[in-house]
Amino acid sequence: MSQLPPAVVEFDGVSKTYPGPVAAVRDVSLRIGRGELVGVVGPSGSGKSSVLHLMGSLDRPSAGRVLIDGHDVAKLSDREVSALRATRIGFVFQQFHLAVGVPVLDSVADGLLYAGVPVRRRRARAAAALARVGLSHRVHHPPHQLSGGERQRVAVARAVVGGPSVLLADEPTGNLDSASGAAVLELLRELHAGGTTVVVITHDREIAARLPRRIEMIDGRLVGDTVRGTTSGAHR
Ligand code: ADP
Ligand code: MG
Repeated sequence: MSQLPPAVVEFDGVSKTYPGPVAAVRDVSLRIGRGELVGVVGPSGSGKSSVLHLMGSLDRPSAGRVLIDGHDVAKLSDREVSALRATRIGFVFQQFHLAVGVPVLDSVADGLLYAGVPVRRRRARAAAALARVGLSHRVHHPPHQLSGGERQRVAVARAVVGGPSVLLADEPTGNLDSASGAAVLELLRELHAGGTTVVVITHDREIAARLPRRIEMIDGRLVGDTVRGTTSGAHR
């Protein structure tokens, strides 16, 4: 057997049951390698967000193992999980709440607070991240002067400013018009081309069809895993 490169995210028989009980995630095994761009699709309520939260250590599994950069989340203290999340995970959600009156540069720089980076370096790195998302001309603007698409690009800048191992995006285009949504997707593609590992939930089938890999969820189960047009089965 050939030796696989270390995975950024690995699930081994992962289940998540919420009180109710609701079996949101059922026995999911998957492996996401460094530099991949993966789409997660499935109907509403199929467990997509739950999977993303588990990938990002926002939640712990009820059963099975979640490994992030080789670290078993269950074996870490709360403090260690927080540190792991702060330094290795970037999140982008459907709604991005920018603090009122805080200039864009500082909102992005705050993404480095937990990484213990001194304030001047934080601001320099925030400026570089904003340049990467094409917002150099907006760094000193208050958030209310930005369009929805621009705000979402700020969210992406904030998510990548710390150089995370993986960028997790939960329907980042859900609240945007199609042109702004396409621009945000293009940005994720550019980040991927630059080496960032990206996992993006989308209910847009056209977007999903154009991604290099697509994971399909139904009723908490992983029912499809398609890589560049070839179905490789649920367990990789
Ligand atoms: P999706 O993102 O695909 O719409 P979710 O992962 O949000 O699906 O939800 C999967 C299932 O788990 C749904 O039935 C949802 O109602 C339930 N669920 C999600 N989060 C919670 C929670 N914190 N508490 C209880 N049930 C939850
Ligand atoms: Mg969801």
